[in-house]
Amino acid sequence: MEKIIVWFRNDLRLHDNEMLYKALQKSSQLIPLYCFDPRQFEMTELGFPKTGSFRAKFLIESVTDLKYNLQKIGSNLLIRIGRPEQVIPELQKLTGAKAVYASKEVTSEEINIENKLEEQLFKVGCKLNLYWQSSLYHLDDLPFPIKMLPDVYTEFRKEVEKVVKIRKQFPTPERMTFIDLEIELGKLPTLCELGLEEAVQDERSVLIFKGGESSGKKRLKEYFWEKDLLKVYKETRNGLIGADYSSKFSAWLALGCLSPRYIYDEVKKYEQERVKNDSTYWLIFELIWRDYFRFVAKKYGNRIFQYGGIRNQNLPLKEDKRLFEKWKEGKTGLTFIDANMRELKNTGFMSNRGRQNVASYLVKDLKVNWQWGASWFESQLIDYDVCSNWGNWNYVAGIGNDPRENRYFNISSQAQKYDPKGEYVKLWLEENPNLVLL
Ligand SMILES: Cc1cc2nc3c(=O)[nH]c(=O)nc-3n(C[C@H](O)[C@H](O)[C@H](O)COP(=O)(O)OP(=O)(O)OC[C@H]3O[C@@H](n4cnc5c(N)ncnc54)[C@H](O)[C@@H]3O)c2cc1C
Repeated sequence: MEKIIVWFRNDLRLHDNEMLYKALQKSSQLIPLYCFDPRQFEMTELGFPKTGSFRAKFLIESVTDLKYNLQKIGSNLLIRIGRPEQVIPELQKLTGAKAVYASKEVTSEEINIENKLEEQLFKVGCKLNLYWQSSLYHLDDLPFPIKMLPDVYTEFRKEVEKVVKIRKQFPTPERMTFIDLEIELGKLPTLCELGLEEAVQDERSVLIFKGGESSGKKRLKEYFWEKDLLKVYKETRNGLIGADYSSKFSAWLALGCLSPRYIYDEVKKYEQERVKNDSTYWLIFELIWRDYFRFVAKKYGNRIFQYGGIRNQNLPLKEDKRLFEKWKEGKTGLTFIDANMRELKNTGFMSNRGRQNVASYLVKDLKVNWQWGASWFESQLIDYDVCSNWGNWNYVAGIGNDPRENRYFNISSQAQKYDPKGEYVKLWLEENPNLVLL
């Protein structure tokens, strides 16, 4: 039976994992692998790491959990630190694997790796099989070619909701075998080995985010079933403080620890067993936004990263380091902005309401290059997702998919509306010495 390298990327789970399922159907001789790519941890030109400590910590925990879950069913996970397009051909040579199975990504850095890898593998007769699996709606089921994707979300949503059926989840493997290849399993890197500082847990954090499929499922169980919060999601989702105002699924979704189809099925179950209302629908509505940005990235390629955005517009923005630093450090003097930016810096998370406001403020008020803001989010956010982040920044900067011209967030009225008693601002702007090392 042929050996297959199962290369985990942003699909760090056993449940609803098509590439793992398909590999298992083909062979029992699987070699599961995760690769920490050093390029992801390099310094950006702006002087901070591309992946900051909070996100890196969540990633390490997620890979640890995957390894543990694989061990529980009889398998294991090889860990490597290196460029996948080099590491995988070397592993292929050592093992004689006949195929590599992995998830398909949409953006350029990831696609470049796929292309280089495919070329290397082709030379030795090894096939790269890629599976699209990060969205709720499958790319192949869209009722239009990607180039015809509507530029307005509502049009997209209505069309897919009308005609596309969400696919069934793939079964979770119950048993796998581990082939002893007599090669090193490899060790998980520490933050220090990745060149990063320790991640310090702030007690004001909305949640203690722990990476991995197990914790992701636990959070869903808590939010849906134990605390019964899904039924009020639509009313609470614009909150700013604590674990309960929104699902906080984003970080687990970003690394694929949770599958969106798993969440969807749980929502349907909740609607049957508890209640079906606007809130239960709204969580799916938001998951469709997530899909949408993925498809937008597929349609527009590198334009989502470029200064002019997907509309290719020339905004009059500056590269003012001083203003950017003030924004980034939460020292603009505008309390609602500063509170949000400090939350991001100290915890790796910020509410959706906060993100919209700080992004708008950077671009529309400070008139600083939006790409800098998006890069800071990329570094800091635990839930950083390339498509959601750059797509939302395009949107807020007014060069993306917002059908409304010149949308503007008036920061003081936003603060009045969403933090009327100033509790959020107080939480983040009063010095808090109670920091504990994780
Ligand atoms: C400037 C900016 C940058 C952002 N960057 C990211 C990012 O890097 N990663 C990320 O996951 N989200 C990003 N978002 C979207 C959104 O803010 C987060 O998904 C949300 O705050 C996460 O919290 P939650 O899981 O509790 O969301 P909930 O309100 O519980 O929503 C459920 C899920 O729906 C999806 N979702 C909700 N809103 C959006 C949205 N506007 N766009 C895409 N998906 C959405 C997320 O997967 C989320 O987990 C960004 C928004 C803005 C305005």
